Amino acid sequence: MPELKTAVRTNEGTDISPLMNTYNRWPISIVKGKGSYVWDDEGTKYLDFTSGIAVCNLGHAPEEVKKEVSVQLDKLWHCSNLYKIPIQEKLAKVLTENSFADRVFFCNSGAEANEAAIKLARKYAHEVKKAEKVEIVTFEQSFHGRTMASLSATGQPKLHEGFEPLVEGFHYLPYNDLDSLKEIDFLSPCAVMLELVQGEGGVVPADKEWVKQLAAICKENNILIMVDEVQTGIGRTGTLFAYEQYEIQPDVITLAKGLGSGFPIGAVLAKEEAAKVFGPGSHGSTFGGNPIASSAGYATVSHILNENILFTARSISAQLTESLNGLKEKYPVIEEVRGKGLLLGLLIPGKAADIITAARKEKVLILPAGQDVVRILPPLTATKEEIETFITILDSVFEKLYTVS
Ligand SMILES: *Cc1c(COP(=O)(O)O)cnc(C)c1O
Repeated sequence: MPELKTAVRTNEGTDISPLMNTYNRWPISIVKGKGSYVWDDEGTKYLDFTSGIAVCNLGHAPEEVKKEVSVQLDKLWHCSNLYKIPIQEKLAKVLTENSFADRVFFCNSGAEANEAAIKLARKYAHEVKKAEKVEIVTFEQSFHGRTMASLSATGQPKLHEGFEPLVEGFHYLPYNDLDSLKEIDFLSPCAVMLELVQGEGGVVPADKEWVKQLAAICKENNILIMVDEVQTGIGRTGTLFAYEQYEIQPDVITLAKGLGSGFPIGAVLAKEEAAKVFGPGSHGSTFGGNPIASSAGYATVSHILNENILFTARSISAQLTESLNGLKEKYPVIEEVRGKGLLLGLLIPGKAADIITAARKEKVLILPAGQDVVRILPPLTATKEEIETFITILDSVFEKLYTVS
């Protein structure tokens, strides 16, 4: 028998993390979260205006979700999609009753939801349209996920680098560009996939007129409109879904981030006409719509709807936007305040990282969206006082960094 040698670990005896280095992690260890706050392992409390990247829309560990999940924990954790799962059907019902959609497919993340939507569009093209060309139009600076197909759909060359060959059949057009709409006629894709506020791409809202014209072209030519609401969905922009603010009827939307209040769950919502091409065996997921994640999703969506959380979110959005515009007046380094609802960004070319680091030292957590944009994502349940505290601290951060004395 050959001698079995224990591999020498390169990080043996060092403090190098055993995790792959896929994130530039900030030097704090978060161990607890409640409401709008998180605590690190030294007991320091931070005001969290990242919401775990638009995930904890009801704040951290909301009681209503905790209650529903606890009940489910005592009943059933997992059984696979080979059986009916009542809580999953309950969640699908609340999503369809409150949207354009007839049907729901559950998965575990945003990338997976987009992956499923892309597969659905291709099957629709082959089976319903009997199309010769099966192409999907997406937009420059978009972000649709990290799996091979959702990465290929993403219109950011820097994210593609090193991962070629990409999945074929994607065309990237300029976002918010009326001229680019003529291209759609020419390309005659089977589907168009877009975000209504580009999140990762810099908090860029879609222009309403552009979206309406885009949707009209799609309807005329039997092109599916697929809205990636992974970040904008579940109240983040002030309505349950962002498409409601654009006067369009999508064929498909995808959800994930805010859906489970932190429990991993993704979803594809579709009209019957598109959904019907998925039959038994055409797509699936072992964990998709798992009972625990579904109970978190059901509690999250029902609480938002029953307690009028969207109204609260819109009023604190107005307060926050006004205060941020006040800071813009005071500090010319801020070129623009933009976004929708509680998905807001400050355009500060080249300086996002400096501001975020300085804010963290003052116990406030915010995010970048590229190098030029500071992204602000409070929970929809943040209070007026928390917004005031946030603005006071952000003001002092700008004053320290950008006031010439
Ligand atoms: C975060 C995000 C995704 C990817 O979601 P994951 O859950 O990380 O796979 C896709 N689309 C948009 C718009 C996102 O913001």
